[in-house]
Amino acid sequence: MPAQLTTNPDSSRASRRAIVIGGSLGGLFAGNLLRRIGWDVDIYERSAHDLDSRGGGIVLQPDVVEVFRRIGVDLAAMDLGVQSTFRTTFQPDGTIRSKHFAPQTQTSWSLIYTTLRKAFGDAHYHQAKTLVRIEQDPAQGAVTAHFADGTSETGDLLIGADGGNSTVRLLLWPDVKPVYAGYLAWRGLSPENTMPSVARHDLHGDFGFANNVGSHILGYLVPGENNDVRPGHRLYNWVWYRVADDKLLRDIMVDRTGRQRDFSIPEGMLAPQWKAHLHREAEALLPPPFRAMVEATAEPFAQAIRDLAADHLVSGRVVLLGDAAAIPRPHTAASTAKAAANALQLADALKASPDDIQGALARWEPAQVALGKALRRQGTETGNYLLFHRPPDALVG
Ligand SMILES: Cc1cc2nc3c(=O)[nH]c(=O)nc-3n(C[C@H](O)[C@H](O)[C@H](O)COP(=O)(O)OP(=O)(O)OC[C@H]3O[C@@H](n4cnc5c(N)ncnc54)[C@H](O)[C@@H]3O)c2cc1C
Repeated sequence: MPAQLTTNPDSSRASRRAIVIGGSLGGLFAGNLLRRIGWDVDIYERSAHDLDSRGGGIVLQPDVVEVFRRIGVDLAAMDLGVQSTFRTTFQPDGTIRSKHFAPQTQTSWSLIYTTLRKAFGDAHYHQAKTLVRIEQDPAQGAVTAHFADGTSETGDLLIGADGGNSTVRLLLWPDVKPVYAGYLAWRGLSPENTMPSVARHDLHGDFGFANNVGSHILGYLVPGENNDVRPGHRLYNWVWYRVADDKLLRDIMVDRTGRQRDFSIPEGMLAPQWKAHLHREAEALLPPPFRAMVEATAEPFAQAIRDLAADHLVSGRVVLLGDAAAIPRPHTAASTAKAAANALQLADALKASPDDIQGALARWEPAQVALGKALRRQGTETGNYLLFHRPPDALVG
């Protein structure tokens, strides 16, 4: 029988099905929230394993807590992170340039991921599924995801939550790509109990910063293994932004097995010569407490800083959210919160007009595009000032 054409393909459907591509934070925010408004949701993640060993510290923002609240996470029964008390900025010689009371909660990528993953469960979370192609049927209001293993899945909506190098975005908007910002973030996580004494004395418990020419480092405590927030079981997380031209970045991105990576080296994969390079640079640029932390870190890792804020996030029944849609620089401390906000507002829009998905998406898109662009502007201004224009600390009043 030929497909029946209606002006609104949604009006005759009972339940809705969302296919989420990417099972990291963005995909899990969206998957959990859509399920809460009555959708059937399946998440398809390229990785064959759980993702919980990666990532570091994240500043806890209200939108993330709001997702937890809406999906029924028992907030009273868990510790969401570690509080820092003061914001302290050090001069290169280790003296304090400024210190002010600014309590703030830092959490970890792993804590957010494991909480969302547990809430979503295993039954509809599919690993080792790599999206390669998308097909849309506008008359039926249907979208089909084709995977590298030859299987396919059809639904009413496909959510591209597949990160900064999104395949979904590449398939629909091939010209929209992240741009390298000219600097990278060296990162490290170290057990708080192994902090060298100078670092423990100056950095422990606060949000610390230090600037130098082409160099900006910050650090704070985050939950430890198994999201443990008990004193003595936490990790010190540092992020050190350093200017690097394209060639230097390419060289750093060759991992310890000799494989050329694009924009990040995970923990444990950094080639050994870069650890020595980091220690030399730390000697020249960092105040003693941060220098000691960098030197004490067993497995530093690295991530290129990139800019992206897409102009379009909706095409038929396909949407982009999270890093696939826009990558704010980490100085905004907003990327995870933006992914949460994208998902919260998507769920609100779909709930408000359940019989008009297309209308809901059209109403959802403009504010998300604007949010991505505002964060790109904010992150670019802050990052470029800190890394390329800031005078040496000794000259800053
Ligand atoms: C140095 C640094 C510091 C940061 N600090 C903060 C911070 O303080 N606060 C904050 O909010 N954020 C921070 N972030 C950003 C944050 O980690 C991400 O923005 C957030 O996790 C949202 O990511 P996402 O889920 O959209 O994408 P990702 O986490 O990149 O996930 C995408 C997922 O899609 C999967 N995938 C990719 N392609 C396919 C495919 N074809 N088929 C199926 N699956 C696929 C991938 O395997 C991956 O699991 C920081 C980032 C950096 C670089």
